[in-house]
Amino acid sequence: MALNLVLLGPPGAGKGTQAERLAARLNVPRISTGDLLREAVAQGTPLGGLVRAVMARGELVSDDLMIEVVRDRLGRPDAAAGFVLDGFPRTVAQAEALAGLVAGRGPLTVVEIRVPEQELVRRLGARMVCRGCGVTATPESAASGRCGRCGGELVQRADDDAGVVRERLQVFTRDTQPLVEYYRSRSMHQAVDGSGTPDQVFADLAAVAGAGR
Ligand code: AMP
Repeated sequence: MALNLVLLGPPGAGKGTQAERLAARLNVPRISTGDLLREAVAQGTPLGGLVRAVMARGELVSDDLMIEVVRDRLGRPDAAAGFVLDGFPRTVAQAEALAGLVAGRGPLTVVEIRVPEQELVRRLGARMVCRGCGVTATPESAASGRCGRCGGELVQRADDDAGVVRERLQVFTRDTQPLVEYYRSRSMHQAVDGSGTPDQVFADLAAVAGAGR
């Protein structure tokens, strides 16, 4: 059966890192809406033109646009056997649309990664990403100053600037936190503690998501 997994959590919770590992374990694609949008901006596509300024301010792209992006991505053949969604849904309207998009594709598993706000601010301030391939640096690659995947230069993500981080965390509390209640009221909510090491968090997530060993 398909495993359709959604990772919920604030910026800096480790969704990207964990989504990548879970997707590899499950042999399904990781679908990061943030990555899809950053690629569109980098490539200068019409979508990129629409979202660039909104992202730079740390605000949310409109629900209509995001739902189209995800509809299109989930329609590709590689997502037929399941997916790990990272960064979507971020509003109740997106969650409602997702329910429709996955109807008939097997159940949706939703796991929230919880991390205290102080730790998020610390992590986002220290986060480095590759200018070339966009992957988040590990402590080892950060120490070497080069991307562990492609050797590219490591830089701070534009929206990890302190002022933008504050805005993104406020947006999360206002628009995305209500999703916890949305899924809880449908008995679809599970949570793991995201403040441990990446290996600990991965083990907990894999257990909760039914991704086994
Ligand atoms: P992320 O990499 O998930 O932190 O996303 C980076 C930025 O992309 C966010 O701050 C938003 O501006 C935009 N974005 C990504 N996913 C969504 C979404 N589901 N809804 C609205 N905006 C999004």
